[in-house]
Amino acid sequence: MRRIVVLGAGESGTGAAILADKQGFEVFVSDSSDIKPKYRELLEKYNIRYESCAHTENLILNADEIIKSPGIPDKAPIIKRIKEKNIPVISEIEFAGRYTRAKTVCITGSNGKTTTTMLTYHILKNAGLNVGLAGNVGDSFALQVAEKDYDYYVIELSSFQLDGMYDFKADIAVLLNITPDHLDRYNYVMQNYVDSKMRIIQNQTKDDAFIYWKDDPVISQEIKKRAPEVTLYPFAGYKKEGLAGYADNNQIIVKTSNGDFVMEEELVALTGTHNLYNSLAAAISSKLLDIKNEEIRKSLSNFQGVEHRLEKVAKVRGVEYINDSKATNVNSCWYALQSMKTKTILILGGTDKGNDYSEIEALVKEKCRALIFLGVDNSRLHAFFDGKIKEIVDAGSMQQAVSLAYELARKGDTVLLSPCCASFDLFKNYEDRGCQFKDCVRRL
Ligand code: ADP
Repeated sequence: MRRIVVLGAGESGTGAAILADKQGFEVFVSDSSDIKPKYRELLEKYNIRYESCAHTENLILNADEIIKSPGIPDKAPIIKRIKEKNIPVISEIEFAGRYTRAKTVCITGSNGKTTTTMLTYHILKNAGLNVGLAGNVGDSFALQVAEKDYDYYVIELSSFQLDGMYDFKADIAVLLNITPDHLDRYNYVMQNYVDSKMRIIQNQTKDDAFIYWKDDPVISQEIKKRAPEVTLYPFAGYKKEGLAGYADNNQIIVKTSNGDFVMEEELVALTGTHNLYNSLAAAISSKLLDIKNEEIRKSLSNFQGVEHRLEKVAKVRGVEYINDSKATNVNSCWYALQSMKTKTILILGGTDKGNDYSEIEALVKEKCRALIFLGVDNSRLHAFFDGKIKEIVDAGSMQQAVSLAYELARKGDTVLLSPCCASFDLFKNYEDRGCQFKDCVRRL
């Protein structure tokens, strides 16, 4: 019997273990941290062997194949040992893809993945397709392949998942943008990260679809370089020959071989330039899957948005508070600032992944009344912004940041939490950071 070892017992690892067990493999799960009770219970329910808080080499290095959680970096000692032994390492998505014939819409990009994934799923589901939501959001792909029988999946893919994908093929691939992120996991070499993202189109043939943002310089260059066989569906914010989706005359327009789709832009629920792109990508995917125009229109207009992404929290004494805690890199903060219509108090900071703040410098100068640096170590922020903005203050907790924002804001302003950074210095994760922000705002 072939032995599969799963490293990391989170959502994806536990799902992969259950699927591998169902497929008749000998399965062992190993996690160097404490496994959450929820996943421990699931593993026990299926009688799957596991270890917590340890990686026992002789139980791992005898595997025929390793399924690695996307959270484990290649430089982890156990991965080095596995590589020395030439044991193949794959991601949960690659593994699960072997056991389903469902059609897949796979969505990646540096920013906008979750929003576009949720929106696409919302359209397909409401149109009555038998569709699952997987990847970085919701239940793992593998668990659904093991337990459900979906005809379609909408899958959000991070670069870390893509890194472990080899034979998997997306029927519809969506690549929203590529800007520097997670470079700490790519030896600080941008091309490594770009190559990872471009894996979204690997194995695609001309019968498959590749939907992407036409104006992204990195994607354009990669397409030129690779000349992929897949059929291209570019979108942009303006009308131009050859685009599959664009905005023109206050309408969004989609043109595919399955016909056209037109909708008044003001009826689209999500606002801001970045969300126009996300809506176009979702509408093109839907059209390619033959969803009726009235269904696409209805779902694009009633989509509720996703928590922690430019989420309006409250208006307090004439000041609007917006939670964009998911903005964990500079580019997403750029889009947030760009969509601000008032003077802004920007709260930013956290774990800096090697950020270059020059991207937001002009917008900060134009729109920000004050900056509040929220982090354990704000030195990189100070090094960049000191002297460029008059009002800069430091905060060591969310409570303090919100109180400072309350004092600094004038009537009509917006207080925006859009941190450019990961959250792990002061918070459990970005959700915790966003929820603390909302709690503090509601207590003002
Ligand atoms: P991801 O899943 O890729 O992190 P999200 O949908 O969670 O993307 O959004 C993350 C952040 O990026 C949010 O702050 C959001 O406002 C911003 N954002 C959303 N879509 C885009 C886009 N197409 N381009 C740039 N920024 C975006």
